This record gives sequence, structure tokens and C-alpha cells, in this order.
Amino acid sequence: MIVVLLAFTLASFWALIAWKGMQERALAFAKAGSETQGLTHSLAQHASKSFNAVALALFGAGQYILHSDKSARASAEINDLLAQYAKNIPQVREIGVLAENGDWMFSSFETVPAVNNGDRDYFRYHRDHPEDETPRISEPLTSRVTGRPTLLMTQRLSNPDGSFGGVIFAAIDLAYFRSFYAEFEADLNRTVTLMKTNGKVLVHRRDDQVGKDMTGTALFSGRLKDAGTGLYSIVSPFDGRTKQFAYERLSDFPIVISVAVAEDTILDGWRGDRRFDLLLGAAISTILIGLAVVLALQTRKRSVMARMLRERERGYRLLAENVEDVVTRIDMDGRRLYVSPSIEKLLGWSADEIIRESAYSNIHPAHRELIKGLIGQLGAQNRTATCEYMTRRRDGNYVWVEAQLNFVQDPDEPTAEIVGAIRDISKRKAAEEQLVAANEQLKALSETDPLTGLANRRRFDRMFDAEFKRCQRSGSQLSVLFIDIDKFKSFNDTYGHSAGDDCIRQVAGALASCLKRPADLVARYGGEEFAVLLPETAAINAEVVAEAARNAVHDLAIQHHGSPDGSVTISVGVAGGKCDARNSTSSMLAAADGALYLAKEQGRNRVCVAAENPSLTLVRPAG
Ligand code: GH3
Ligand code: MG
Ligand code: MG
Repeated sequence: MIVVLLAFTLASFWALIAWKGMQERALAFAKAGSETQGLTHSLAQHASKSFNAVALALFGAGQYILHSDKSARASAEINDLLAQYAKNIPQVREIGVLAENGDWMFSSFETVPAVNNGDRDYFRYHRDHPEDETPRISEPLTSRVTGRPTLLMTQRLSNPDGSFGGVIFAAIDLAYFRSFYAEFEADLNRTVTLMKTNGKVLVHRRDDQVGKDMTGTALFSGRLKDAGTGLYSIVSPFDGRTKQFAYERLSDFPIVISVAVAEDTILDGWRGDRRFDLLLGAAISTILIGLAVVLALQTRKRSVMARMLRERERGYRLLAENVEDVVTRIDMDGRRLYVSPSIEKLLGWSADEIIRESAYSNIHPAHRELIKGLIGQLGAQNRTATCEYMTRRRDGNYVWVEAQLNFVQDPDEPTAEIVGAIRDISKRKAAEEQLVAANEQLKALSETDPLTGLANRRRFDRMFDAEFKRCQRSGSQLSVLFIDIDKFKSFNDTYGHSAGDDCIRQVAGALASCLKRPADLVARYGGEEFAVLLPETAAINAEVVAEAARNAVHDLAIQHHGSPDGSVTISVGVAGGKCDARNSTSSMLAAADGALYLAKEQGRNRVCVAAENPSLTLVRPAG
């Protein structure tokens, strides 16, 4: 584009310069032409007058001779007259009169030369042409008297009877014209030429050209026949240079005068102007080309930069648009500046729709202030934060997301902003919840006795520990029951192990049915032993529960021949009281165990209560 523009501008500019050059050239030629033609015309008038003056002198002298007698006195007067003419007409060097035989008769010289000119062409012509009495101009010739280049103007003298009376002639000094023309040829670039209409050169700057035959030139072969005056361009037959050439034929003599001006000279001034134009043009062209180069370089640099920017922008766009995470930019007031298209997949709104909303608009009300506070804390010192919150989808449901927030302070931007990457973590949240549930299940399983479904010893210990501490804090009381199935070994032996298991399950059920408070806990402590935890219960009340349990098992009426009662029974050891510094879980359990031991010893199927503190010596049998 730049090259085309530059080429067009330069072409137009140079065309203008060339056109101006051509115009001025034509103008210079036209001006020079009119000057040359004007000069030619003036010189033609001058030549005409010069020749006319000679012709007038010849006519006057001829008339004088014709009317004078042939006396010596008259002859002397004629010679004087001729001498006066020759002296006063500068272009005439001499005037002479030839007698009818060709001898000199009169002359402007001091003495009449004793020469016969009867053999001269002009003499013979006038002698043989009585009808032509007009003056004639000879070919250029060299004077027999002076030896100088001469032109003769001759005229027939007729006697009154019409017979041939001789010839009067004037020798025209061509040097007169030469010196006159020289004034116009001062600069050597203008040449004035006087010629005869038959093509013979009469006067020329170079003497060796005088007498040269010009009939072959365009002037004589064509131009002169068409018009008496004209202006055209020629290659000089004298020096071969191209010249502007003007000519004019004299109306009253067979003479043509021409002025030739070398075109080089005409164009001298024009050339100066052209040199200036060229210099100016070259300077302007150089500046234009320089500017174009600078422009081209700039444009190229800019297009490379634009391409790089496009590439980079494309890279960022591809990144932002093709990652699952939502990339967003918000200002410190929570206005969204950018949201990547993946928001649509996450929330159901398109990026264009949601960008108009505040960044906090969709956050669950329970989380909103938290997130606002978190973003408010971000700054130069505290650049990043990660948070999890619930945000509302277009369908109204909430989805768990995790946002990584970065505080960004671009040095080129006046205000800071937050760049965030938001991702859907609902699956992770669900998995976490599942894991928690599974852990809880696992924990429950690990604390459950598989045979009976009751809590196992681990759970019992943990709960006992916790309740004991709570009891310590509250200052209330707590009791434990230690329960053992009586003569169970023999039950197994008698009814088999499977029946034994079944019996344990039934006893467990009976025990569980006796506990009414939610905090009460029955656990299978091991084998056919059970433990019961009774928070907020004094030993005396625990004893009631123990009795109820014993009765409940008894009421099961599971046949057992090995038992003194004939059915399955349990013995129960009870321990309880305040949980103060003198007590501990282990001491309380040991007390319960001791009470159980007593119950066994005292005959089984009974409840024994351990003394409140800590020794087992103060045991009070049940009932
Ligand atoms: P005592 O009245 O003194 O308690 O007599 P006992 O036979 O019950 O004596 P002991 O407590 O020493 O016996 C426990 C027996 O309980 C041993 C074992 O055969 C039986 N037993 C322990 N755990 C299980 C169990 O999980 N299933 C079955 N079927 N029997 C068990
Ligand atoms: Mg036992
Ligand atoms: Mg037993």
C-alpha cells in the first residue's frame, strides 16, 4: 500500500515537474522564436533599405549620365558624383560605369581603371536584355580592382534610342553587412546569413562559407516557395548544431536573410531552472522516500506487535475459555470485570448475563459476609486467599465452589483488582460427606458388638470416661452395673455353643429393655459379661435398675438345667456415687466387679452393691 502510494505520489510529482519543464521549454522556444523573427524582420528591412539606397544611387547616376553631354567637364562631374555616392553610401565601396564595349568609362575612383569588363556575366546579360532595366544583383565575386568579396548591383544604361549604352554598377561592400550583423552575433550563438534567393550565401560569419550553395537545404527546396517568412528548427548546414531558424525574403530584391539561434542557448536559462527543479524534486523525493520508509518500518513494527498481541490474547482467551475453572476478575468493590465462559457450565448464566451482577449476588446468604470479609482483607501484604462457599445456580440450587483469590496491583492501573479461579467442588464435598458418614459408620461398627448389636467394651470405656468427667464437672453421681450370666459354661456344654450365643443375644435384649434414659448405656463387656453405665444415677437407684435387669433375664425363662434356678439367671455387681478425687473409672469398675464377685459367692441370681468409697469391705448384699 505504502509502495503503491509512494510510487503514485512520486510518479505524479515527477510528471508535474516534467510537464512544467515541457511547458517552460515551449515557452522559452516561443519567446526566442518571436525575438528571432522580430530580429529577422528588422534585418530584412535594413537589407532592403540598404539595397534600395544603392539602387536609387544607380538610378540617379544613370539619369545624370544619360542627360549629360560627352564633354570632359561633364565626365569629371560624373566621376565626382559617383565619388560622392561611394563616399556617402557606406555599403557602396565604388561605383563604376562601363561603356558599351565593356571598358570603364566613369568611376568613383580617383582615376578610371583601364580595365575591360566586357566578359563579365552581368555585362553580357544587360547588353543582351534591353527589356530589363531593373537593377540586378550579381553572384558574390572577388573584386578585380580591390581583391575583396564583392556583390555588384548592376543596371543597364540605354541610349535615348533604346540601344545599349553600357552598364552602371555599384560594388556593395559585404563587409558592411558583416560588421552590422556582427553586432547581433555577439554571443556567437546567433548567426545572421544573407543569401540570394538562388541559394548562394552572400554574408556569413565565416568568410569560407560565403558563396556556398544552399539550394539543397529545406529553406530553398521547400519553405521559401511556400512563404516569404517563417520560423522552424534546423540542423545547421554550417556547424551541425540544432538551431531555431527564422528567415524572410526581401520583397524588392532576390535576397533572403536568415537568423539562426542555437537551441542550446535558448535553453540555457531553461536548463538552469530545470537543474533547480531536479534538485528540488530530488530533495522532496528523498524526503518522501525517507518518510515512506519510516512509515513502512512503523507499520511493519505495529503489525508485528498487533500479531503478537493477537496471538497472546488468543492464548489467554483459549486458556480462560477452555479450562473447567471459572476465571474472573473483580474490582475491590465487588464489580465483575471479566468472567470466563465456563461460568455457564457452573451456574447456568452466560458470562454476558452475569457480568452485570455483583460478584457477591449469588453467594449463599450464610457465606456472603464471610467471603466479603475475606476479600476485604486482601491487600499488598495479604495477597492470596482460598475459600469454599455455596453459590446459587440459575435453577435455584446451590453448588459448592472453591475460590482461589489473588490480589493484583498492576503498576499500569490505578486501582487494584482480584483475580479469582472458581471451581465446582460439589463432588468433592459429597465425597467428603460420604467419607465422614463412612468414618462414623466405621466408628460405630468398631464400637458395636457383632453378636448382640450392643455397644462393645471399647465404646463402654470411652463413654464411661466421658460421663465420668462430666459427672466430675457437674458434681452429680454416676453408677455402673457389672453383669455376668450364671453357670454359663455348663449352659454351653449342655446346649451347645450356638444356643449359648442365642442365649447371650436374649439376655442382651432383656438388659437393653430395662434402660429408660437416653444416656444409659448397656455394653457387652466380654464373653457372657455385660456392663451398664447409668449417668446421673446414685448407687441406690442403680440397684433398682439392676434388680429390674435381673428380673427381666429371669423372666426370659431360658431353660438351664445347670443353674440352681433351672433357668438362665444373671448376677449383678453395682457401684456408684460421686465422681470426686477419691474415685476413678477403674476404681468404680473394680468396685462393681467386686460386688459381682460377692453376688456370685452369695449364690448367684442376685444383686450386690459395692460401698460408695473405695474399699470393697463395706459391701451391702442386695435385698
Ligand atoms: P459362674 O456362675 O461362676 O459365672 O459360672 P460360669 O460357668 O458362667 O463360669 P465362667 O463365667 O467362668 O464361664 C464362662 C463361660 O461362658 C465360658 C464359656 O464357655 C462361656 N462363654 C463365654 N463367652 C461365650 C460366648 O460368646 N458364647 C458362648 N456360647 N459361650 C460363651
Ligand atoms: Mg463370666
Ligand atoms: Mg458366668
